[in-house]
Amino acid sequence: MKKKQLVIFGLVVLCLIFGEKCPKAEFITQTQIIMTTTVTIVADASSRDVQEAFEAIKKVDSLMNHYNPKSEVSILNQCKKAKVSSQLKEVILKALYFSRITDGAFDITVGPLVSLWYRMEREKRLPTSEELENTLSLIGSQDIGIDDNNVWFKKKGMKLDLGVIAKGYAVDKAIEILKEKGVKNVLVNAGGDMYCLGEGPQGKWKVGIQHPRKTREIVEVIEISNRGVATSGDYHRYYTILGKRFGHIINPSTGLPVEDIPTSVTIIASDAITADALATGVFVLGPRKGMELINTLPQIEAMIISEKMEILISNGWQDLLIK
Ligand code: AMP
Ligand code: MG
Repeated sequence: MKKKQLVIFGLVVLCLIFGEKCPKAEFITQTQIIMTTTVTIVADASSRDVQEAFEAIKKVDSLMNHYNPKSEVSILNQCKKAKVSSQLKEVILKALYFSRITDGAFDITVGPLVSLWYRMEREKRLPTSEELENTLSLIGSQDIGIDDNNVWFKKKGMKLDLGVIAKGYAVDKAIEILKEKGVKNVLVNAGGDMYCLGEGPQGKWKVGIQHPRKTREIVEVIEISNRGVATSGDYHRYYTILGKRFGHIINPSTGLPVEDIPTSVTIIASDAITADALATGVFVLGPRKGMELINTLPQIEAMIISEKMEILISNGWQDLLIK
């Protein structure tokens, strides 16, 4: 297997790259394209049927993909008010929590800003201050109302973008199903948002953090078990306007793509949704403030690579390195 095929959004599962060295018979790898990304499940051979886990991911996609006009979140975005499934409500409530702890840096109400920047890319120009102000007035999680399973927006024109956390949530749902089926050792990876349950072919799962500028290089290898991992980087998706590259993560308080950027943020957490949300939140907060936040949160570790390629690690990161 070629390394190139397996370099996925900042994180690399090493036992796959060096597949020849792994005892192949003990693990099976299955891949499907879901949520416009490659979803890979690597499971120990005792758990042959992982189709239900893929189905769980498809279900999350059908509810939360805002690019699909029939998804639940699209209906909410169009109607401003909707009775939603318990899954969508759970994700919104978690998103509100992540907004609170990141002081608004992570915010699922960025939808109108994301649309604005896509439009600017099409129109090959930057937004006027009026356009920016008008759009910013629609941003803020405090304007989401929730009561039982009813969700509504307090301002016309608000739109939710679950692009960050839907994948992490889907990974967690797949793991939940696999656990129910008695699977002990499995990795679910949705385009770099992943969860590693139990152990891989050679002890704990070994995950490499990709160099943000040299995609074939690995900065560090960590060993994890029963943890979620996600990386947000500036190098995969961006807007190009007037020849300048703007990252796809937007600062909800300025409306601008994050400028004082880390080049990559990797988070290890107890589940994939937390890793996913905090990777984006820390990206917006920047290396120093972001790391300060991570060091206050129990059971969460981070590696941040700054624009100058300076590497910052959280207090407990060393414990994840291969002994
Ligand atoms: P990720 O690559 O997981 O960091 O997700 C980036 C996507 O999240 C973008 O393409 C936007 O759709 C959305 N997004 C951008 N900025 C934010 C933000 N500050 N908070 C939440 N979602 C965001
Ligand atoms: Mg992500």
